Amino acid sequence: MIWIQAFIFIILPMILLLHLLKNVYPGRKLLIADWLGTGMFIAFLFFIGPWHIFIYYLRYVWVVLFIVTTFFVIKKVSRLPVKGPKNKSYKFSMGIAIFLTIYFGFVAVTGITGYFFTDKEKAIKLEFPMKDGVFSTGHGGADPSINYHNEYPPQQYAYDILQINGFGMRAAGLTPDDLEKYKIYGTPLYSPCSGEVLAAVDQYDDIPPSLSSDSKPEDPAGNHIILACKGAEVHIAHMKPGTVEVEKGDEMNTGDILGEVGNTGNTTEPHLHIHAEKDGVGVPITFNDRFLKRNSLVFN
Ligand SMILES: [Zn+2]
Repeated sequence: MIWIQAFIFIILPMILLLHLLKNVYPGRKLLIADWLGTGMFIAFLFFIGPWHIFIYYLRYVWVVLFIVTTFFVIKKVSRLPVKGPKNKSYKFSMGIAIFLTIYFGFVAVTGITGYFFTDKEKAIKLEFPMKDGVFSTGHGGADPSINYHNEYPPQQYAYDILQINGFGMRAAGLTPDDLEKYKIYGTPLYSPCSGEVLAAVDQYDDIPPSLSSDSKPEDPAGNHIILACKGAEVHIAHMKPGTVEVEKGDEMNTGDILGEVGNTGNTTEPHLHIHAEKDGVGVPITFNDRFLKRNSLVFN
């Protein structure tokens, strides 16, 4: 699965861009349709792709290469006949290009709608809970296409956060089996707000990455902490065994140590899951006034 994804994110854009440059087009319309289709595909990758798995910064490389390619396409298009051939294969190629433009354009725009949220007055302002690193948002935003938590009301607007290394990858490898190879594993967590500890659980072992869901522990949050802050319950999940440093009833100040990031509960790899609920419904969180979306980076 991960190799198919790698093909889609790394190899396919290269093939599409080379095709635009090298293909001998019989008419202008098909070149323009292919250019649009490639552009929408790259927009889809840019907004929807989980770039922390690959080299994060490639996300921008495709955009730059698309802009460069566009200059060559503009030159090329003026040399082509305005009317293309009337044969079936030309029409078929046009049909595919138009379909891809509409499909990937639609998915990209759906992702962009998740950059904004409507419950402005319900949002709570928190301090980012990790330091000394570069962090990437895996799931975040207001639309399910960029944040799967939105399918589940108590966890809507939840964030899954990863840490990336100097190469822009969240692990040494694509999906290593060793938890230690994930940059965020063991990263200290600090209280994102001041408030009382409502629950603190530290009784589960880490699970190996990519374990199938039927063999996961009973509590999907694994080792976790719930804080009462600013009229909301702030949930911090999947903590590393033996690291939870607080107990129910403790009063926390912003920046106090809570524990470390682990891989306990219903999780596919080490990450920080954080969400805030008011009356059982998830509310948006801003960190230092930023609403994070998939691929948002935090330098802290
Ligand atoms: Zn999550």
